[in-house]
Amino acid sequence: MEAARLTFIFCDGQLLVRAGGLEPAPAEILPDLLAGRAVKDTFTVRPQGVVATEVSGAAEHPPAGCEWVRLRRLIAAGAPDAVAACRALGLLNWRAKHRFCGVCGAPLGEHPTEVAHRCEACGHTDYPSVYAAVIVRVEKDGKILLARHVQRSQEFFTCLAGYVEVGESLEDCVRREVREEVGIEVADVRYVCSQHWPYPNQLMLAFKARWAAGELNLQASELAEARWFDPADLPNIPPEGSVAYRLIRGLV
Ligand SMILES: [Zn+2]
Repeated sequence: MEAARLTFIFCDGQLLVRAGGLEPAPAEILPDLLAGRAVKDTFTVRPQGVVATEVSGAAEHPPAGCEWVRLRRLIAAGAPDAVAACRALGLLNWRAKHRFCGVCGAPLGEHPTEVAHRCEACGHTDYPSVYAAVIVRVEKDGKILLARHVQRSQEFFTCLAGYVEVGESLEDCVRREVREEVGIEVADVRYVCSQHWPYPNQLMLAFKARWAAGELNLQASELAEARWFDPADLPNIPPEGSVAYRLIRGLV
């Protein structure tokens, strides 16, 4: 008898797991879950062979014995399914926004052999896109620069970050983001690690850099506050499982 294939059931960016653990909920739960919900998308993630299914509605009222969790919980715990679940959600997010051909406008179909979509009308192949973003730990005299953003995660102080622009090197992006957001110059920009982040579909590239010149002068549209913090006396920072947490804690 063929073993049941692993299924990831997502809703609003959250994964359905068995309550009290981080093991994905079994596929048998799906009929119960679909009372009052619809399947938004379902496909087989290649090459893992895992089935990814996204259901409509809000991530609430989980079936008995299950709960919805954000994927950072799996990443933080080093759960065996964390990488595959991030890939599945990243692909779901990409598929939701790439349903029509960017060349001719016809609906896209599954590519027969590759992880991609193909346009039957014009032959265009649309590969999954990943948005490159840098995040940087800037140091000055043993202190680190952390900022509170106007829009997102207001309750946290975190590292400066931003999307890489077309035609830009990662190091240039780090220098530009820091200059734009806080008005200082940095030197010794060094890559340290990366992490896929499926909200919506980013490759976070983490760097360290050293303050070189200038006083903090905040971009008011982006930042509510930015300060130099002693690593032994940190404010509220993003939770474990994010690359920001590892950068700030000095774990990478
Ligand atoms: Zn086309």
